[in-house]
Amino acid sequence: MQEDVRYMALIPGHHNRWREVRKAVGTGPIIYWMSRDQRLEDNWALFHAWVRAREAGRPMGVVFCLTPRYSLAGPRHYRFMIHGLQEMVAKAQNMGMPFFILRGDPVRTLPPFLEEWKISLTVTDFDPLREKGQWMEAVMERSECDFEEVDAHNIVPCWQASPKQEFSAATFRPKVRLHLPEYMPHLPPRPGKFHRWPGEVPNADLDSALKELGDRPDDRWVGGETEAHRVMRDFANSGLQGYASQRNDPNLNAQSSLSPYLHFGMVSAQRVAVEVDASSAPPSDKDAFLEELIIRRELSDNFCHYNPLYDSTEGFPAWSRVSLREHLDDRREHLYTLEELEAGRTHDPLWNAAQVQMVREGKMHGWLRMYWAKKILEWTEGPDQALRTVNELNDRYEMDGRDPNGYVGAAWSIGGVHDRAWGERPIFGKVRYMNLNGARRKFDVDLFVSRFSDHPDR
Ligand SMILES: Cc1cc2nc3c(=O)[nH]c(=O)nc-3n(C[C@H](O)[C@H](O)[C@H](O)COP(=O)(O)OP(=O)(O)OC[C@H]3O[C@@H](n4cnc5c(N)ncnc54)[C@H](O)[C@@H]3O)c2cc1C
Repeated sequence: MQEDVRYMALIPGHHNRWREVRKAVGTGPIIYWMSRDQRLEDNWALFHAWVRAREAGRPMGVVFCLTPRYSLAGPRHYRFMIHGLQEMVAKAQNMGMPFFILRGDPVRTLPPFLEEWKISLTVTDFDPLREKGQWMEAVMERSECDFEEVDAHNIVPCWQASPKQEFSAATFRPKVRLHLPEYMPHLPPRPGKFHRWPGEVPNADLDSALKELGDRPDDRWVGGETEAHRVMRDFANSGLQGYASQRNDPNLNAQSSLSPYLHFGMVSAQRVAVEVDASSAPPSDKDAFLEELIIRRELSDNFCHYNPLYDSTEGFPAWSRVSLREHLDDRREHLYTLEELEAGRTHDPLWNAAQVQMVREGKMHGWLRMYWAKKILEWTEGPDQALRTVNELNDRYEMDGRDPNGYVGAAWSIGGVHDRAWGERPIFGKVRYMNLNGARRKFDVDLFVSRFSDHPDR
């Protein structure tokens, strides 16, 4: 048995995926504090906690803190997340693995839980955003157990891909590619047997949490691992073909729609990469998709992890900060308030349609997000206000919002992060510019506008 356990700790792909945050001495059960990676399949943090429990011969369980508020997430996001939690709680029960749901902020609910069960080690999933870091610090201050952190979100662990903030995809790509053979093919094994938890596991009353949110039966988003895997398989089997040439046309349904599932961790990016790699789609489509899924997505984690100013104009590169400052006093032909933007009431029909798509469907097409954000720079008083507005609308309405990809997408559009300097022009300075004529050259703008010209949801 002991040999078996040591072998498991040496599983390929596990090495350097975790790091010790605090060492303490204790003999109680081990807990996985699930937060960013809300799944039981293909979850390196869950597997790591299970290995630790097997090595020490202790019980292990999972805890999730259901906060009443998180950033600008609304009922739609919460419903999506709770669907996923319901599925996991049922599945965990079948596996014989305790799954605790704590209602409330982790800083308030987790320390008493750790103390009550005499937890010796808390394993948690890595998240480069400020909120999770602050939660973790506060929980550690109020508790005494070991803490270990596992990057269960990135294919190549963030700290392993690069030890510093990368300048662009061009500098990041070779570093990630170097590590891919070590990490991409090896998915975590499924946890097996569990030692008996030393007490009663309370019922996770998620139905009442759902009821509190009210009904919205027309919601197109269904959360959970089963649905995430269905979307992934449908895309790998039949949606991927044509991705390279069609993904930038908002009238075609050529993107995967996986971002909300990836954001909530309901599917592992590693699993998606493996499925796509094995699909029979043309290599050019696979390559284009894997560039987005691996390089662009993991570059966002790199930026937010190493740059604490990820959602501020202070985090922009020096060239764009200087250039945008030089153009602060440029005349703005149109200025809109947050309310006018939120309601999609500008002079630009394409922009309004994109805004309506986001509000109505919870997901704006990827190409349009760039156009949408850049126009906000043109129509607000300056880059600070523009960045705040983009992040606020994105976080409030996108199902995949409140994500490193969103903060980096906004910083790319407004502040040239991961981009290069372009020819100088009013307002934008050297930041890349986009306009309606460019959009017309790419796709049938009128067709897109006609799809979103009536907006019953607003
Ligand atoms: C202003 C702006 C805001 C954005 N906000 C978000 C956000 O809140 N959440 C979010 O996940 N993405 C965001 N993006 C990135 C991108 O637009 C979305 O990831 C993509 O459109 C999601 O749709 P999909 O899953 O169908 O993508 P697909 O084209 O099918 O791509 C597959 C996956 O690759 C990743 N990916 C694709 N494009 C990018 C990109 N440009 N940067 C980083 N990763 C990418 C995503 O994880 C995506 O799910 C934003 C981009 C911009 C310019």
